[in-house]
Order: sequence, then C-alpha cells, then structure tokens
Amino acid sequence: MGQLATRREECRICGSRRLSRFLDLGLSPLANRFLQQDQLDDEEPRFPLDVFLCADCSLVQLLEIVDPAFLFRDYIYVSGTSDTMRAHFSSFADEVTRRFAFQSDQLVVEVASNDGTFLSNFEGRGLRLLGVEPAVNIAEIATERGIETINEFFSEDVGERIRTEYGPAACILATNVFAHLDDMNGFVRGLLEALDHEGIFIFENSYVRDMLDHLEFDSVYHEHLSYFSVTALSALFARHGMEIFDVQHQPVHGGSLRVFVKRQGASHTVTDAPARFCAEERDSGLCDFETYEAFATRVYELRSSLMNLLNSLRGEGKRIVAYGSSAKGNTLLNFMEIGPDVVTYLVDKSPLKQGTFSPGMHLPVLPVERLVEDRPDYALILAWNFTDEIVSQQQDYIEAGGRFIVPLPTPHIIPESR
Ligand code: ZN
Repeated sequence: MGQLATRREECRICGSRRLSRFLDLGLSPLANRFLQQDQLDDEEPRFPLDVFLCADCSLVQLLEIVDPAFLFRDYIYVSGTSDTMRAHFSSFADEVTRRFAFQSDQLVVEVASNDGTFLSNFEGRGLRLLGVEPAVNIAEIATERGIETINEFFSEDVGERIRTEYGPAACILATNVFAHLDDMNGFVRGLLEALDHEGIFIFENSYVRDMLDHLEFDSVYHEHLSYFSVTALSALFARHGMEIFDVQHQPVHGGSLRVFVKRQGASHTVTDAPARFCAEERDSGLCDFETYEAFATRVYELRSSLMNLLNSLRGEGKRIVAYGSSAKGNTLLNFMEIGPDVVTYLVDKSPLKQGTFSPGMHLPVLPVERLVEDRPDYALILAWNFTDEIVSQQQDYIEAGGRFIVPLPTPHIIPESR
C-alpha cells in the first residue's frame, strides 16, 4: 500500500493557516472498516483523530486526510436499513418536490447516492434521476433497483460529464456527504458545472452546534472532515458566487442542517433563516476557540463517567453488550477503549456487518435477535440517535429484564428502574 494519509496545513475552505486544535481523540482506526475473521491478526492502520477550528472562516475540521480510495473502498453503511432514515428521506423528497415544482423530465442528481434509497423517493414524478456513488458494491445495489448510477466520486470532471451527457441539473442533492470532502472548493466548482442557471443544491449534514450542545463527540471520525456551521458554509459558497437561500434544522443524526443553495442572481427568494442562523452562531460562541475548549473538557469528563458506570456494572457481575455498530459507536469504543473485557459483543441489524469484527476493539458483530436469545443485562446503545426506534423494537428484550445504556450527553439507563 502507498501512503494512506496526508496532513493538510491549511483550512479546506479559506486556505488560512490559523488553525487550532481543541480535541484529541487519540490514534483511531477507520470507524467503518469492519474486519473479517482472517484480518484480525493483521496490523490495523490507525490515524490521529484531532479536531481543529479555523480562526478565519470558523470551519471545524480534521486535517488528517485518509486516502478516500482506502477509506471508502469497502464502505458498508447502507441507508436502506433504518426505519427512521427511510421515513426521513421520504418526507425530505416530498418537501423538495412540493416546494420547487420541477418540470417533468428535469434532471435530479444525488451525490453519494448510496444504495439509491433517497433517490427512489423521487420515482414516479416524471423526473430523470441519476446517482453518483463511489463505492462499487453499493452502486451495484442501486443499479439493480433501477437507479442509474455513475460509479465515481463527484468532482469538477463528473459535474462536467453530467452536463454533457445528461444536460444541466435542476437539483443536486447530497445527504451526509458534504462533510466527507477534502476538496470542498472543487466540489462546489463541480456543482456549478452541473447545475442549470436556476438549479439548486440541497444538502444535509450534521450541525456543529448540535455536536457541542449534546456532546456528540462521537460524530468525529476520519470520514467526517468538516463539522459545519452556517457561518462557515456561507463563506464557502460566497467564494464561488453562490449563496444559501434557506436553512432548516432537522432532528436526524443528532441534529442536522438542511441547506438550500443557489447561484447569486438566480430567482429563488432568500429567506431570513441564513442570517438568523449566523447571528445565533455568533452569539452562542460558535466562532470562538474557548467554546470548543470547553466542549473538549466535557468530552473527557464524559469518558470518566461512562467508564465508571460500565465498570461498576461489571463489578456487580452484570453482562453488557453493545447495540448498533455505527461509525460513531466505533469512535466512542476506541476513544474509551471499551473492548471485549467490558462489552461481550455488538449486535446490528445489517446482514453486511454481521459476522465481522468492529475496528480497533474487535468486538464480534452478531444479529440483533441474539439480544432476546442471550439476554445480557445491559445493551450500550452506540447508535443513540436511533434510541427511540431501538427501544420500541426491543420490547421483548426489555420485558425479559434487559436494559439499555444511553452513553451521552449524560450516561443513563432505560428503563430507569425496575
Ligand atoms: Zn478557514
């Protein structure tokens, strides 16, 4: 293998070198690189997980760039598996088509279209649909279900190819991908290549304010290169003659932004939301380094309190497993060094993950049914953003005496007492 990671010296939006580190989560393996049994003895690549704030544009970011070809090669997050996300994508698609009343035969593109779950919500509306998805195995799933998919990373070249081969796009969508990009400026140039003059870019991504407010340090992993505020995003688009014309706060993934972007000069009305978000961010210290330092202190305190809880339960002879082998879960497990001595195994609904081992801590991943068969005393919910869904689906486990541990923002147990 060649060099797997490089270290950036400048802010990926504005090029500034005034970057300060506020959080150090240690050397961490790739959060989505689940291992097969025969890989367990191989040396596992680990990379620093350090988070920085840019003093000039306020972008919160990682500077360690793992080669995307390595990072996403065997990516196995499949969006179709969660009920919460299916419902979210469906209402998102409804809002977009209602609000923008696209003409039939207009082109709607999704970048990092995954298995086509989101785009499939636009079927039956007379639109032409196109996915762009770099992961070979996942692009194949989308193609099999009838969503035409370009198997590439989106770039300026791919933007140009879309315009040439399919015509200019009326709408480009991206959910939880914008944060994965190192070359954000190149990506925006690609949008300008592909979009019609009135074309819009709509994307969703985690909101840095929620990360701070709810102590969601586990949204930090090597795929997530940026942690967005509206302030930083506005700076990015302004560099390219684009502007944010609306922003909404969404509850998914622990709190996300839904951002609507157009060319400056296109006719879509600019709402008061972008300016309001920026003012609130300034007032709540989202541009100040001290705010991030205080966040880091709370993260280190959380580690102590969660480990105290788990260790005291272990001391009482309780058996603990973990629920949901999400990437964020692996950040938490590795940062807190929760291995098989603390948590016996992980359960997960995705058949692609079952039979594998979690990165770094090497917890075996078993089917969710195991929870009811085996009845461990506690299940630590790593996919805490799906807590309500998990608890409602696992009533049999709870009725049999099982309890869940929600790790953050303050570790707590569901049901509280029995
Ligand atoms: Zn910057």
